[in-house]
Amino acid sequence: KFITLEGGEGVGKSTNLRYLTDWLRAREIPFVQTREPGGTPLAEQLRELLLCRREERVDPTAELLMVFAARAQHLAEVILPALERGEWVVCDRFTDATYAYQGGGRQLDLGLIAQLEQTVQGGLRPDRILLLDLDPQVGLERASRTGAADRFESEQLAFFRRVREAYLARAEADPARYAVIDAAQALESVQRDLGEQLESLLD
Ligand code: C5P
Repeated sequence: KFITLEGGEGVGKSTNLRYLTDWLRAREIPFVQTREPGGTPLAEQLRELLLCRREERVDPTAELLMVFAARAQHLAEVILPALERGEWVVCDRFTDATYAYQGGGRQLDLGLIAQLEQTVQGGLRPDRILLLDLDPQVGLERASRTGAADRFESEQLAFFRRVREAYLARAEADPARYAVIDAAQALESVQRDLGEQLESLLD
C-alpha cells in the first residue's frame, strides 16, 4: 500500500507521521518511510536547493521541474522497489503537494502538472492520501511557535490559503483516494481518524 501524508504549514505532519509508523510497527507490517521532496541522496540535494534561502528568486516552472526531477529519482530508487517487495510506503508529501504548492500556491497550470505526473509516474497514484486540513492562520501560528515557519515568514497568508484550497479541491475530485482529516481537533481525535483510515486499508 502506498500512503501519503499531506497538509499545509503547522498541521502536525511530523507528529502524525510518527503515529502512522508506530501503528504499522505495532502490527509488524513491513514499510518504508520516506519524504518529498527528497528520499534519495540526489533528491535530498534537490530539496536543499529548493528550500535554502538565496538571492535569486526561483522561477516557478524551474521549481516545478526540480520537484518532478526529485520525484522521478525517488520513485525509481525507493518507492517502486519497496512496493514491488510488497512493503507499504509511507511518504511525507507527494504529488498532491505539487498540485497544492506549485499549482495552488504558485498558480502554475494544473494541466502542466498533470502532464508531468503522467510522464514521471505513469499510472501510479497513492492508495490513500491523508490530508491534514487546517486554517492556515492557525497553522502558521503553530509553526512559528516551533520555529518551523522560518523560511515562510515573508510569504503571504494568501499563498497558504491557495495551498489549502488546492488540496481541498483535489480531495473533492477524488473522494475515494483522499481522506480529509480535521487537524484543528485534539490530537487524539486526529489520530483516531488516522487509525480508522489505516484499518480500512488492511486486506
Ligand atoms: O514537508 P515539509 O513541511 O518539511 O516541506 C518543506 C517545505 O517544502 C514545505 O513547507 C513547502 O513549502 C515546500 N514544498 C514545496 N513544494 C512541494 C513540496 C514542498 O514548496 N511540492
